Amino acid sequence: MQMTLNNQTLDTEAIQLIQSIVGNAVAFVTLSGGKDSTATVDLVKRSLIKAEFHYHRTGLDAPETIHFIRETYPDCVFDIPDRTFWQGMMSHGLPLRLQRWCCGELKECFGRGRIIIDGVRRGESNGRKARTCFEPARNDPTTFFIHPIFKWSTKDVWQYIDERSLPHNPLYYTNGKRVPSRRIGCILCPNTTQRECHRQMDLFPGFVKLYRYNAERYVQVRIDRGTPLTQKTGDEYFEWWISMH
Ligand code: SF4
Repeated sequence: MQMTLNNQTLDTEAIQLIQSIVGNAVAFVTLSGGKDSTATVDLVKRSLIKAEFHYHRTGLDAPETIHFIRETYPDCVFDIPDRTFWQGMMSHGLPLRLQRWCCGELKECFGRGRIIIDGVRRGESNGRKARTCFEPARNDPTTFFIHPIFKWSTKDVWQYIDERSLPHNPLYYTNGKRVPSRRIGCILCPNTTQRECHRQMDLFPGFVKLYRYNAERYVQVRIDRGTPLTQKTGDEYFEWWISMH
């Protein structure tokens, strides 16, 4: 693995970080089924700390991801939020890149008061550049995050997975070829690129039907509330939403 400025390998540094902060506590490890959590879970296991593994089920999960997690991490707890994405959508509408209400309602509500270990990386978005590998939660001083692979590049993550022959999500492959930059997560997440959105729509037609069905319901909810959307039908609303990705 790549060496750090302290002349350690990236994985050694990550394991030391986990051990030094968690100590005798029981860490709350979140996994998504993507490559970053695959590497992170392995680092946690190698650090020999006490840990629980959690997957936050949003209802927008690819069946392949659920299957992969059940097979690979049989001790993983599936956290179910109080209300579903579709129920939340009737209050908020479809989530937008800058209005991602669903992450807060379906994921960030879990692990409060704990030391949470996740696979967040600095390179994933500009908003993460100001963050650090150990930090308190925003608006909650009782919860702390450790991001053991915060400084790792995409290449570092794949190198680690390959060197350790870690099982990983089959959705990274198209026609048997790995697509290293692919992001695995909620289907049609507002953070998904247009191109990836269209690929997912081809791959998961059942989810597209579900989105369109609920888009129609939401258009009606807004009419009933006396605050109609600009889009007149569920299909129009859904197409507009996809164009905003
Ligand atoms: S769809 Fe995207 S923004 Fe919403 S919960 Fe999933 S990852 Fe978060």
